Amino acid sequence: MSGALALALDLGGTQVRAALVQDGAILKRAASLTDVAGGPSAVFEQIRALVTQISTADERRAVKALGCCLPGPVDTDAGIVLYIATLPRWEGFPLRAKLAEAFGLPTIIENDAIAAAVGEWRHGAGRGLRHLVYVTVSTGVGGGAIVDGRPLHGARGMASHFGHMSLTPDGPPCSCGRAGCFEAMASGSALGRRAQAASGSEHLAQAAKRGAVGAKDVVEGVRLGDAICLALMAEEARWLGMGFVNLIHIHSPERVIMGGGVSSAFDLMRDDIAAIVRRDAMPPFRDVKVVAAELGENSGLIGAAELALETPSPVYGRGLG
Ligand SMILES: [Zn+2]
Repeated sequence: MSGALALALDLGGTQVRAALVQDGAILKRAASLTDVAGGPSAVFEQIRALVTQISTADERRAVKALGCCLPGPVDTDAGIVLYIATLPRWEGFPLRAKLAEAFGLPTIIENDAIAAAVGEWRHGAGRGLRHLVYVTVSTGVGGGAIVDGRPLHGARGMASHFGHMSLTPDGPPCSCGRAGCFEAMASGSALGRRAQAASGSEHLAQAAKRGAVGAKDVVEGVRLGDAICLALMAEEARWLGMGFVNLIHIHSPERVIMGGGVSSAFDLMRDDIAAIVRRDAMPPFRDVKVVAAELGENSGLIGAAELALETPSPVYGRGLG
């Protein structure tokens, strides 16, 4: 089977990535380091170059739609960038209209975590489900939910900023200005911060001599059997489990899917997370499984392509506006 071709863009503060997508598969992909200082005009030049790199003129003529995902909160109804901490010059930028104009295609923009949830739903760990929660755990924590067979969108498309539900009033400050958010407690950065403060680990002490200790060093330490790293990982699993149980109670998903960089260590936390769900969720929710995402860093691109091809839909029906 070969379905329609879509162009997908993933615009982040570190990288801007472009892909040619068909039937949930990435046919070609390219990336550049985002020219943050250059602002929208410089990044648009980067996007044009990437698109040329990944597609022939024939393929570009065959492309049916363009989907771009980016960090939220983003106004996906109006197609306007609201605020991206890592892209300071983009506030108020009419991204959807500018992309549609540049490429002459029906265009949607979407929060990258909601796009990733859609990608996993259609082509990854959530295939065939009607209800799921996707949580990405990396530098920050974000997510998206599929509820009653459709992506939960919310006013201006700003639903599912799971990273900023508070888990404890006494926690460290969060990137959003509050304290003790899910992101402040369970992100890869939070794990790295706890690792930097930990003492008694030969492995972490060696890592500190090579540079700033991060989540990756903890994962390495666990695989080497380091007791302090094992304890740090168990604590990470507890915070993740607490957040997941909250989300299970709120959305009643059939499955929770964990993606993002920290999910590369999911196998080290799976049992602890499952035990927390069995212990802390209300009895009827205790059988909800938490699983690792399947599409890796491509989930947002695949979801953005999927959403672009589906426009207009009941959720994204405003189209180009
Ligand atoms: Zn927060």
